[in-house]
Formats: sequence, C-alpha cells, structure tokens
Amino acid sequence: MPDVAPSNRPSRISKTAAFLVRPHLLDRQAICDTFRWSDARRQLAGLPGGALNIAAEAVERHGRGARAEHPAIVWLGADGGRQTITYGELQRRSSRFANAIIALGLQRGDRLFVLAPRIPALYVAVLGALKAGVVVSPLFSAFGPEPIATRMNLGGGRALVSTAALYARKVAPVRERIPTLEHVLLAGCGGDTPAPAGAHDLDALLQRASDEFATVATAPDEMALLHFTSGTTGKPKGAVHVHEAVVAHYATGLYALDLHADDVFWCTADPGWVTGMSYGIIAPLVHGVTMVVDEAEFDPERWYRILQDERVTVWYTAPTAVRMLMKAGAGIADRYRFDGLRFIASVGEPLNPQAVWWGQDVFGLPIHDNWWQTETGGIMIANTVAQDIKPGSMGLPLPGIEAFVVQRRDGEVEIVDAPDVEGELALRAGWPSMFRGYLNDDERYRRCFVRDLYLTGDLVKRDADGYYWFVGRADDVIKSAGHLIGPFEVESALMEHPAVAEAGVIGKPDPVLGETVKAFVSLKGGYTAGEELRRELLGHARRRLGPTVAPKEIDFTAKLPRTRSGKIMRRLLKARELGLPEGDTSTLEADDRQPQ
Ligand code: ATP
Ligand code: MG
Repeated sequence: MPDVAPSNRPSRISKTAAFLVRPHLLDRQAICDTFRWSDARRQLAGLPGGALNIAAEAVERHGRGARAEHPAIVWLGADGGRQTITYGELQRRSSRFANAIIALGLQRGDRLFVLAPRIPALYVAVLGALKAGVVVSPLFSAFGPEPIATRMNLGGGRALVSTAALYARKVAPVRERIPTLEHVLLAGCGGDTPAPAGAHDLDALLQRASDEFATVATAPDEMALLHFTSGTTGKPKGAVHVHEAVVAHYATGLYALDLHADDVFWCTADPGWVTGMSYGIIAPLVHGVTMVVDEAEFDPERWYRILQDERVTVWYTAPTAVRMLMKAGAGIADRYRFDGLRFIASVGEPLNPQAVWWGQDVFGLPIHDNWWQTETGGIMIANTVAQDIKPGSMGLPLPGIEAFVVQRRDGEVEIVDAPDVEGELALRAGWPSMFRGYLNDDERYRRCFVRDLYLTGDLVKRDADGYYWFVGRADDVIKSAGHLIGPFEVESALMEHPAVAEAGVIGKPDPVLGETVKAFVSLKGGYTAGEELRRELLGHARRRLGPTVAPKEIDFTAKLPRTRSGKIMRRLLKARELGLPEGDTSTLEADDRQPQ
C-alpha cells in the first residue's frame, strides 16, 4: 500500500465511539450479504403497473403525505434572504410547472435544459419536468454561450428554463444556432423586466397553471436525466440516466450518507453536475429530509456560518472545497460551533489524508471520502459512518455494489484477486443508477463494458481488508523507469508540507525514463515561492516517496487549472507544459472562487 498517511498520524481512524444516531449501515457485512435491489425498490412508493418516477418518490409522496408540512428546502439567497419551502409547497409548485410545460406542448421524452443559479425555480422545474416525463438536462450556470449551445444541440433541447439575466448574456447570442429550442421559460421576469421576445415569463405561467397534476407513469428504464461529465480528461460526454436510478439514490442516501428523517442535509454541489442532482436534489428529498440550498458562491466564513446557523447534521462536499477551507486557515472555523454536525462526506477527487484529518481537527469528525462518477449515477464505494477509515482510501463498496480490480489483456479482462495489486476499477453491471448510454455515441458506451463488467477508467488497488485506494485516472498515471506512479500519491505527500495548499502532478516525456514526475504547487498564505522552498519540497518528497516516485521538478503557480466542479485538470497542466493544444476547455473554471 502506498504510504500516504501523514507521517505524524495513525493510518486508521477507528469508529468505536457511541453514535448519536444509530447508523443504517452499522453491520455492513450482514447488510451486504442479504442486500437486494428489488428489496430497496420495495421501500419506494412506486406507481401503478410497475411504473416508477423520480419526482413521485422525491416530492409527490411526501407532499401529499405525512411530511407535507416538513421543510424540504431551506433556501439561502445570495443577498441574505432565507425561504423555507415545505414538501407540500414543493409538490404543488412542481405540479404547476408540469402543467405549464404540457400546456406549451412539451411531451413525454422531450428534453428540457436548466441553466440557472441555485434558486427555488430550478428545483421546481427539475421536479416538475420529471413529473411530466420530460427529460431534464442541467447546465452549470457559469457556462458560456458555446458550451451551452454544444450541449443543447447534442441533447436536442426543446425547452430551456433560465433567468432573464442568464438568458440575455448566454443564450440569446447563440439561440439561432440551437434549432430544436422552441420554448424558453425565464424566472425573475415581471415588473421592470418583462420577458424578452421569444421567451415566457415563468412565474406568470406558474401562477396560471393548476397545482393538481397526476405524475406520468414512466417506465423504470425510461430516460429521466441527461448529465454531461466534467470534462476533466477530454470532451464532456452526455450520460443517459433513467427513472429507476431513484432506487440507488434512495439506497445510497441510506447507507452512504446515513440520512435519517430529521436530518438537515447540505450538499454543496451545484445541480449543474451529477452530484448536485443525485444528492443535491433527489436523494435527500426521497428521504424526506430538509436540505439546505445556498445560492451564493463559496466563501469560508459564510459556509461555517451556514453549518452552524442551519444546524446542518450531514454535510456532503468536495475535496476542492475542503482544501480551500484549509487554505483559509483554522482561525475562521474557531469562531463557530458545529454542535449538530454528525457526518461529513466528500466526492469528486481523491481526498488527501491531510484533509481527512483536518475534518477531525476542525469539526471533531473526519471527512469521509466516497467514489463515483457521472456514469454510475450514485455513490458506489464509500467510507461510511460506522466503518473505520483508512485516510487516503475511498472506502468499501456499498451494499448491492460488486467491485473488482481488473487488468485488461487483448480486449479481455482478468480479475485480480490478490490484494495491493494495481488495476482498473470495474463494477458488475446492473445497479439501478447505471448510465444507459452516452448520447449519440453507442460505440463509446459499448467500449466501457467487457462481459457484465463496467470498466471505470480509474486505476485503484484493493487492500487485504477490502478497502479501495485510488491510484489515478488511467489517462493521468505516469510511467517512469518501469514504474506506474499515481499522481494522487505524489500530490498527497506534497500536501503534507505546511507550505503547500494544492498540488497537481503530471508525467513529462523523457527519452531515458519514459516519463519523469513534475509537480505544480500552489502555496498557503505566508509562504514565498523560491529556490529555497523548491529544494525543501523536493527533499521532503524524496524522503516520503523515494527517488523514483518523487518529482524531479516543481513549479510554483498561484492556482491550478480546475473544472468548474473543482477537479484539477492535469491534462491542461500537461498540455501547457508541453506546448500542446489544450483541447476542450468548456468546463474550465473562469476564476478560483467556486468549488462545487
Ligand atoms: P470526464 O469523464 O469528462 O473526463 P470526470 O471523469 O471528471 O470528467 P465526473 O463523472 O464528474 O467527470 O467525475 C468522475 C471521476 O472523478 C471519477 O472517474 C474519478 O476519476 C474522479 N473521482 C470521483 N470521486 C473520487 C474519489 N473519491 N477519489 C478519487 N477520484 C474520484
Ligand atoms: Mg469520467
């Protein structure tokens, strides 16, 4: 196993303490042994005739039932406003939306895109469209006109929900290049800002529509969502998801996030990405909990205040956010209390051991890394409430998930049984939130499967206790002098140094070694880049990693290129280093303020 544990910390965090609430996955082995997706499905309400609809589970069931008066969304406006929307209210508003789009002529299976900040209208539109059997494709509101037009054309978007301001800046200039787009519905019109020509005033449409709607009885394998991947390794792909995914959202909300009925849950991801949809909308609502939605951009002080004032109990965030909070310094957190908080999880990138421990120091709770992808639709491998954590590991497969380490050989794959051997992470196909296609790219979809195994493109190891360790994306792994080096291992070692805020590591072609390791490092406040610090970091890395794996070169940089969802884009570091074309940069963030 790579020795990635910070040198001064134990390599295991034991979960022997009494739990505030009984964890759903207390006896993991027993649950894994007996778990069946069909049983999980029976926990949902379902619709007559075996039909299943995400919105029926997320909002209709609670909105018409015992939780009608329970807060579904606590919305925090960027300008300081605060609104509570109950399940009953969300149910009625989403029904109005479903009626409104049907009155416009939208039909089951049509595609509706959403391009909006985290405002209530976005949540109403997503749920309302799903109720109507209309496929939802979320776009991140910071996208520029080009990425919007490309995705809408690929998805054949017939309708768009947005705000007047975003539409004017980002869609109006390219609208004639999106020939399928017939209906534009804009929130925030009225008064001084009437809807522009060719667009509808969404609020007015909702007001006129009835709040009674019978959810469309969609088939479990009917398309519900179209999610574009983050574009970390190349051009974003459109992953097709179906209504049956809600079974996995339910089960993972239970076992990975440990949601209980009275939780206040905050997922910081934007619904423009799969995390913000699966866990920033669907899973918490299916569980009937209260979810916090913050409209504003990342701000350390604001985030600590939200955790405190809203008494968040379960918090789901991303490594990039954690690293930025770490960079901001512990002094800010010291001014707040986090009494209600009982579980913190993170997804999107490897979580450095340093960050796991930082959670323990600041919140009295370690951060629980979990792994999944746009394609898997839900969490697959996770550190959970009641299982020991090995910092640096992404944890254990969840109930219902069969994971393997495999090696590809001439178009076939071999399953590796021995522990601590590197290989590609594969999952036995068949979990309900598995993607059912890449839009317009069947060939690529087929290439992801060998027999009944879905090949994830991520390299991992599994240790003797069954814990999975992320090595790197197949595309990012460095081959140097016959060794395979995962950038994560090198980045984690660099981050142990007190001066380092973030590190990104690439392989640089070398005529003798194949590749050499090069690191890009951004520094914490109070440290100055220079020869002396460079030598110190090179020495630190050699001591921790040995001469083969340690970087040969370190460059200082104010910030690393990241996707708008906060992932380090190593392919860009590499392209820039080698003077190669940058490729698709539609998801590259414009500034460094927005971890999702
Ligand atoms: P693209 O496929 O367009 O290159 P992407 O893979 O970053 O983009 P996502 O589906 O958003 O798009 O991200 C999933 C990937 O993120 C995983 O395949 C993995 O490489 C990485 N990832 C997610 N969670 C973790 C984690 N806990 N540890 C390590 N890597 C993770
Ligand atoms: Mg990917």
